[in-house]
Amino acid sequence: MIRDFFLGFIKIHILHHATEEPIYGLYMIQELASHGYELSPGTLYPILHKLEDQGYLQSEKRVVEGKVRRYYTATPAGEEALIEAYTKARELLNELGAVSPSREVR
Ligand SMILES: [Zn+2]
Repeated sequence: MIRDFFLGFIKIHILHHATEEPIYGLYMIQELASHGYELSPGTLYPILHKLEDQGYLQSEKRVVEGKVRRYYTATPAGEEALIEAYTKARELLNELGAVSPSREVR
């Protein structure tokens, strides 16, 4: 169950970063690790592929230092989903009281 929750957070991270600049798998694995999400390529790549299939990301191959890398950027639908997720996350945090100094969420 916890995994299900975090999968949503992970997708929001991916969309967020793919909105700012083109991202690739290894970059995202390291970025997510910095937030405490330990993902293997075997877990991350299917998530990227699925987001692309669903129309939230688009990808292109680029050759960087002799290696072929697939770069992902958010589509307009992806940006829209991110805005919606942001709105919902804010609402959730408000309800949990995480933004209120009178209550600490541990
Ligand atoms: Zn992030």
